[in-house]
Amino acid sequence: MRTSPLRLLQDPTVVVLAAGHGGSDPGAVNLPHKERDQAITITDQTADLLRGQGVEVEIAPHDEDTERSIQWVNRNFSFGDAWVLELHRDSASGLDLDDASRRCGIYYGTSESSKDIGNFVRSSFILNGTHPNSWARPDTASNFGRLGWIRQTRPVAHLLELGFMQGKNDDAHLSWLAKVAATTIMEAFTGRSF
Ligand SMILES: [Zn+2]
Repeated sequence: MRTSPLRLLQDPTVVVLAAGHGGSDPGAVNLPHKERDQAITITDQTADLLRGQGVEVEIAPHDEDTERSIQWVNRNFSFGDAWVLELHRDSASGLDLDDASRRCGIYYGTSESSKDIGNFVRSSFILNGTHPNSWARPDTASNFGRLGWIRQTRPVAHLLELGFMQGKNDDAHLSWLAKVAATTIMEAFTGRSF
């Protein structure tokens, strides 16, 4: 039984996850760590956790870059049938290790309902142990001014930034980030907790 408290998530029946970057774009790099590889690890683990809770999840093909992932989403899903999330790791210098490891964020789109999801996710992140600096921002506040993942996909779309490449990078930490992502997505999408 699903009873999302969020208007835009009441009709969709499937969560679609995509790992950020891909193709020839590795995303942020903090040698030897590549954002793209970590995003794939986190995406796969998040999907497993959600499926274990009975949530229907599809994963965009990992061999596609963002542009082709958007095309894949639009071939397979329409507005109202899916919630599509692209998962990233953030990058910045000068943060302390704890902040860099645990600060998570969400970019939302132009509508108030999309912003409602952003604010819900930010609160859920923090309740699930992320850093108090965790944030929700409109995509116009991103470095790119607007995000194709949010503007060009037909279904409701958001983009998550899960910790920084300059924070912890070990497998246990990536699994913790996947647990945070899965728990938060579950709460927003179903109104239920793990
Ligand atoms: Zn990224």
